[in-house]
Amino acid sequence: MKVKLLKFTHDPEKTCATAARLCYSASGIDEISEKFTEEKIKALLDKVISSGHHSVLEHVSFTFGVEGVSRALLAQLTRHRIASFSVQSQRYVKFENDIEFIIPQTIQKDENLLKKYNDFLKNTEKLYKEYLEAGIPAEDARYVLPNASATKIIITMNARELRHFFALRCCNRAQWEIREMACRMLNFVKKEAPVLFSDAGPDCLRHGCNESFPCGAPWKKK
Ligand SMILES: Cc1cc2nc3c(=O)[nH]c(=O)nc-3n(C[C@H](O)[C@H](O)[C@H](O)COP(=O)(O)OP(=O)(O)OC[C@H]3O[C@@H](n4cnc5c(N)ncnc54)[C@H](O)[C@@H]3O)c2cc1C
Repeated sequence: MKVKLLKFTHDPEKTCATAARLCYSASGIDEISEKFTEEKIKALLDKVISSGHHSVLEHVSFTFGVEGVSRALLAQLTRHRIASFSVQSQRYVKFENDIEFIIPQTIQKDENLLKKYNDFLKNTEKLYKEYLEAGIPAEDARYVLPNASATKIIITMNARELRHFFALRCCNRAQWEIREMACRMLNFVKKEAPVLFSDAGPDCLRHGCNESFPCGAPWKKK
């Protein structure tokens, strides 16, 4: 899995802090912006985050490039409706060379099961290519490709949605692949906007666990 932070809003914490201050100030935007110090930005952001005034976090967004993740991950990721996605198409892209598949560790560590998995993928790939050669359009040949097929995605989320995404997907109860991707994304944004994301991560970090079946383990930063 490859996860990269491609772009993000310039000066994200000051942008959110300006939006927050504007709500409660008689001053103009330039004046508000000029008066900010690092300490004031932190104090204001801590206050809006703890009070739930989270709409001000929507003014900044982060764009990630992700490669080498499965279509199984994609199905979960795209349930997040406030995010924007661009996904490598299986309709327009013909996979004529070696097709990349994701292998879960549970299968990887069992020689016998791994062999069956690889045999299945080899047959699937062969059938897919046979369909292409027979003139079947890629949009139909792809029906034989499994959830294990790797994909490439560009994801953009605003900071509010990212915090929500991290709460759900960095949780130990989330599926391993999307959890790994979410934790890597969290590490990136923490570096660029440490105040905005200081308490981001699974819900248990802030107010205990909401899961019906808690993992029972304290969350460990990756
Ligand atoms: C551990 C785990 C297990 C899961 N298992 C399943 C499963 O078995 N089956 C399944 O179908 N899904 C499953 N999901 C997916 C889950 O139900 C959500 O679809 C997914 O997590 C996206 O969450 P969301 O809707 O809160 O997020 P987003 O779509 O990112 O939305 C963010 C927030 O915006 C608000 N919002 C967005 N759209 C609307 C709307 N139309 N109306 C009102 N408010 C809105 C909500 O407050 C929402 O929380 C699972 C998720 C997790 C984390």
